Amino acid sequence: MVPMAAASLSAMPELATYPQLTDSHGRVIHDLRVSITDRCNYKCVYCRTGEAGAQYPELGIGEYLRLIEIFVGLGVTKVRLTGGEPLLRRGIVELVQELARMRALEGAPLDLALTTNGHLLESLAAPLKAAGLNRVTVSMDAVDAPVFERITRIDGSFPVVLAGIRAARDAGLSPVKINCVLLRGFNDDQIEGFARFAREENVVVRFIEFMPLEEGRLWSPGIVVTLKEIVERIGKTLPLVELPAREASETARRYTFADGMGEIGIIAPVSQAFCGACSRVRLTSDGKIRTCLFSVREHDLAALMERGASDDEMTDFIWNAIGQKEARHHIGEPGFVPASRTMVHIGG
Ligand code: SAM
Repeated sequence: MVPMAAASLSAMPELATYPQLTDSHGRVIHDLRVSITDRCNYKCVYCRTGEAGAQYPELGIGEYLRLIEIFVGLGVTKVRLTGGEPLLRRGIVELVQELARMRALEGAPLDLALTTNGHLLESLAAPLKAAGLNRVTVSMDAVDAPVFERITRIDGSFPVVLAGIRAARDAGLSPVKINCVLLRGFNDDQIEGFARFAREENVVVRFIEFMPLEEGRLWSPGIVVTLKEIVERIGKTLPLVELPAREASETARRYTFADGMGEIGIIAPVSQAFCGACSRVRLTSDGKIRTCLFSVREHDLAALMERGASDDEMTDFIWNAIGQKEARHHIGEPGFVPASRTMVHIGG
């Protein structure tokens, strides 16, 4: 079955041979996020209630590879491995090695990225780079060691993550991006410290607005530290200059400091939603397609694979799922329905 959206692309000569995965709102999907485990070695207080272990099964590495290859055949060019904590997964280096051998439709290597808490990164950064990983994003919610360790609930975690960040930078996994989720009255006193950290450590720090995706019930509109507020606060000590967007689907608004040294980004899914430019699809650790972080239903691709489906059947299934991609999320609106999974079990 060739979906309507693909048929309409046939007028464009360069895409005619390769129908690109396109949703019913005309958004081309080229960015796949794959969770390879929902286990995590941190218990960040704003993310998890403290329950340990996996809630959902994991697929074999070969199964992720087969599913990813089908998505790549449909126009995916970027693959981000995530979790849970993806570095807990045995076989991750081999997985990256195999992904590095794949080619996007137009023949270029994939853009391969990883999101990690950095705890196991010091020893894995160089092997991952050698296997073909291009970029890494490390989550870090404070630059102050005691605050960081109160958030992760793991003693001694700060120096371990810092060593991981430096190892990633030294291995050439650049630019190393640091993602910091801000919660009012909790870690928003870290904003200015992070601005300095970005310059001192030569990393790109990105602040992320907190979304209602936690296991507990913390979220309220008031706890969100908005883009506007972050820019104003940093600007008081280190004036910022906004940088132009590199592509329409870029989620972060980028800023450099007035002296041109360093970069920070702000991802504002709550105060300045970017759903209209969304190019993403997610695969959970148990092989379900999620078309939005806030989806209330999933599409069980792994079950289809287990029943012995052919690649063509799975391709049809993916097109069908993408056809149902939500127009946008409804955070903060009356009647907001929470997502059917929390962040750690989806893959951030
Ligand atoms: N363990 C890896 C890590 O720490 O980066 C990958 C998974 S983690 C769930 C991915 C990212 O989601 C982290 O940067 C985390 O801070 C972020 N995150 C978790 N809950 C969130 C929420 N409710 N709103 C926004 N970001 C959240």
